[in-house]
Amino acid sequence: MNIITRFSPSPTGYLHIGSVRTALYSWLFARSKNGKFILRIEDTDVVRSNKQHYKQHILDSMTWLGINWDYGPYYQTNRLSRYYSIIDYMLKNNIAYKCFCTENRLKVLRQSQLINKIKPKYDGHCRNIRYINNSSINYVIRFRNPDNGCVIFKDLIRGEISFNNNEIDDLIILRTNNIPTYNFCSVIDDYDMGITHVIRGAEHINNTPRQINILKSLDMNLPNYAHLSILLDNNGKKLSKRNKSNNIMYYYNNGILKEALLNYIIKLGWSYGNKEIFNLKEVINLFNLNKINKAPIKFDINKLLWYNKYYMNNLSINYIVNNFINYTKFLNLSFDKNTKIKDLLKLTISRCSTMKEIIDNYQYLYSNKVNLNLNYLNNFNIKDKLIFINAFENFLLNLKRSDSWSVYKIQNILDQVLLNKENKNIFYQLLRFSVTNNYASPPLSQIIYIIGKLNIINRIKNFIELIKK
Ligand code: GLU
Repeated sequence: MNIITRFSPSPTGYLHIGSVRTALYSWLFARSKNGKFILRIEDTDVVRSNKQHYKQHILDSMTWLGINWDYGPYYQTNRLSRYYSIIDYMLKNNIAYKCFCTENRLKVLRQSQLINKIKPKYDGHCRNIRYINNSSINYVIRFRNPDNGCVIFKDLIRGEISFNNNEIDDLIILRTNNIPTYNFCSVIDDYDMGITHVIRGAEHINNTPRQINILKSLDMNLPNYAHLSILLDNNGKKLSKRNKSNNIMYYYNNGILKEALLNYIIKLGWSYGNKEIFNLKEVINLFNLNKINKAPIKFDINKLLWYNKYYMNNLSINYIVNNFINYTKFLNLSFDKNTKIKDLLKLTISRCSTMKEIIDNYQYLYSNKVNLNLNYLNNFNIKDKLIFINAFENFLLNLKRSDSWSVYKIQNILDQVLLNKENKNIFYQLLRFSVTNNYASPPLSQIIYIIGKLNIINRIKNFIELIKK
């Protein structure tokens, strides 16, 4: 069988982690079977999906993560004539019918069903109205769902699932605004596009029997179905769209590497023994739907950060440099052209979990200036200011005189500062403060090297002026 899968997001917001997992697993399954992968944008909910930037965001995110598609992107709003012709056929063959019920009637019906503890469902009021040719009356078109029997399908992750037809509504397939609905468009597309495997989130399990009934009524082949597990937040609640860490942009904005995100999402429901680290090529060879876990799974940001730290430290440094430069461009950050980015990263990646953390915590390594919080100086018990002014001036002079600039050389100059042990300690702390505005930092010789000769001389000069005052 030639496998064809699809990812078919509705552009009603930014992609979230669950959608990216759906895309990734559908893509992996197709790639692992030498099949094809289709990208389809389900934008028929014209009120919620008409924002161009959400559509663009889907394409950008997929491109960022390297989840490439063979066909598409198809947009359902470009396929309306196909849907209309099928709806026409369904009306003529009594597979669908016009429903003229007013919103008010439906509301009253629902309330009375709830009061009588009946599962709310359309009562089929318009099922037998043959035809009203009055275009001034609002109507929707409903699918005539079978009354009896049940729909049984074999979910490739969950096994057999069955639904009684008498619990399934007569689904609206065309709204009053003349736009067809998701469940209808989706099955027509799956059929037209030859989709063999529909892989999607568990929230669609209830849609599947409806979709199967529509396909059957049209004598169309059924695809295979696989419904992924639900994602939970820290509190064991369903990961909500409102949760900021659910939005894929959040990870890009925070300087997460795509390798880390992909690796984490791969593991979000799929496993291969105890193996933790995967790259996409590897997973393509190993991926199989029967290794997917159907139990709800907790989304754990700390685990993702663990992966990110791992990849920052294990991918080639040149690759990390490129990523970092692109990220700083995205943040609109400009660097001094002399910034030693490679050295800066070598020094900081083992100390941070994200590129954002590097930017936030190590500003003193790439900016021209640091703003000192002078209150800090009150923490020092400096008995004789002059000793330190002399030490700083002497250090400055040696830095200026030095004709080479290396960590080794800077360490040498630091070692030459002549002070007793206690004062030398204070000197180091003051020096650290004068160049970083921080109490702690990586080794002084290394940060001084990265900050650069000119820059460091200015910082120390300013500091000497300050303590003189
Ligand atoms: N457009 C649907 C969604 O974004 C996809 C449903 C499906 O995969 O069939 O949830």
